[in-house]
Amino acid sequence: MPGSFTLCPECAAQFQALRFDPKAVVHSVLMPYGSIVWDDELPPMDQRQFLHHKECNFSMIRLMGLRKQLWLSGRKTEPDQEVWQQARALIPNWPGFQRLTLNRQEWESLQFCLEETEELMDDFRQSSSVFSVTDEGGGAASFKAYPKPPAADCQTKPAKPS
Ligand SMILES: [Zn+2]
Repeated sequence: MPGSFTLCPECAAQFQALRFDPKAVVHSVLMPYGSIVWDDELPPMDQRQFLHHKECNFSMIRLMGLRKQLWLSGRKTEPDQEVWQQARALIPNWPGFQRLTLNRQEWESLQFCLEETEELMDDFRQSSSVFSVTDEGGGAASFKAYPKPPAADCQTKPAKPS
């Protein structure tokens, strides 16, 4: 369903099993989130089936997007969008729900990530013969770039050191 938060039973079980880790490391995930993500917020790298499930993948992109908007807005109240409510109901213990405000260092990591994402998109625009962005609803977008498609759908790099 476009514009909603849904996970197949398999992915839902994986995300429900995640637990908050105060020592989790923050990463800048340019593709596909354009945001910072802690490593306890996604299943281990080799178990990320949701990346291969279109609806599960877009649901996580929408959720990450709403959280990023919340950070950037500086609001203290949670988003009232349906996607957020659906995620809250489906994966209530998702560690990401415990990170709704950023400390200064995290804020700087996010700013750095946003700049990098912007540069990456500019690169694609300039180096591709065809570049199109498709709105997938609820803040998720997919894009096509030819002749060089993006190599990976979840490219991580360490956050900028403080
Ligand atoms: Zn799935």
